[in-house]
Amino acid sequence: MWTLGIESTAHTLSFGLVDENGIPFPSSSATIRPEKGGIHPREAADHHKDCAAELLKNLLDNNQLSADDISAVSYSQGPGLGPCLRIGAAIARGLSAKLNTPLIGVNHCVAHIEIGRQQCGCEDPVLLYVSGGNTQVIARLEGKYRVLGETLDIGIGNMLDKFARAQGIPFPGGPVIEKLAANWLAENPECNMDGLELPYAVRGMDLAFSGVLTAALRLVANGKPLEAVCWSLQEHVFSACVEVAERALAHTGKSELLLGGGVACNDRLRTMCKLMCIERESFSYAPPKMYCIDNGTMIAMLGWLELGAGRITEFEASAIDQYLRTDQTPIIWA
Ligand code: AMP
Ligand code: MG
Repeated sequence: MWTLGIESTAHTLSFGLVDENGIPFPSSSATIRPEKGGIHPREAADHHKDCAAELLKNLLDNNQLSADDISAVSYSQGPGLGPCLRIGAAIARGLSAKLNTPLIGVNHCVAHIEIGRQQCGCEDPVLLYVSGGNTQVIARLEGKYRVLGETLDIGIGNMLDKFARAQGIPFPGGPVIEKLAANWLAENPECNMDGLELPYAVRGMDLAFSGVLTAALRLVANGKPLEAVCWSLQEHVFSACVEVAERALAHTGKSELLLGGGVACNDRLRTMCKLMCIERESFSYAPPKMYCIDNGTMIAMLGWLELGAGRITEFEASAIDQYLRTDQTPIIWA
């Protein structure tokens, strides 16, 4: 009795599993890394199509399972890039029909929350969801995860990746920026923001990153050291995210903060969240990094939860939804 999860919203195709008790097992994943330029949706979809069979076989082999051990198939129904979502949905429909198992289309953003709650053992957190395409501050209210604040333009991860790409750093740029920023701080422990100021990304409860990106590119073009700009960029945009998250904690009266999404792998961001929560006598949680980045296991976990609550997706209703919102999914499993 295993639930298979298929993640294909953007750059990564990933298959993951949870067992009959909802215990997660590590995913088998592949990420497209374009030699130049950003992620092209159709090229990413081709990548997913080409590596799907091998990834699924590896997942089953690694866990000494056969296809017949799969009792439910869950997939990311949205939000994401249309061509990529369609590959995942097509694989899910095919497997579900062949294996004669229930099909469950789930909300990718909600899956980030549920794997985080399961991994960290937190009850009712405010989620700071920071990924490539999404940046949202989310809290549960009246049966749905509500978006209290979000980016008005690009996702924070996309912003970091674009900045990196302009410096010749390939996708994903976020981890490299983290290293460069840490180098700068190690070599300049007394450094300050003089000459390195950037616009501040907070707009009420919302965020905006394209202006910060332009200004950071200009600093490099004007001769500031790349490592220094990486440091300043992280400090500015992470502070903005943490500020909105703190306001969300204050408004909702909740006392748990949970990080999710690929940018939540960043240790500086994790530290900032911890410091803020200590000051508020609250608790900051971050799942293991393999469950922060996009992964099939979180899709399996949410599928397992929804199936347990009696929800399945009929074939006629299994079309993908590129623009699915976090607050469109009723929380029927808790
Ligand atoms: P996701 O869309 O959730 O899979 O996350 C992918 C994004 O996470 C990409 O934009 C990466 O650059 C970013 N990312 C991954 N690791 C880190 C890190 N250590 N620091 C900052 N960003 C990161
Ligand atoms: Mg994601």
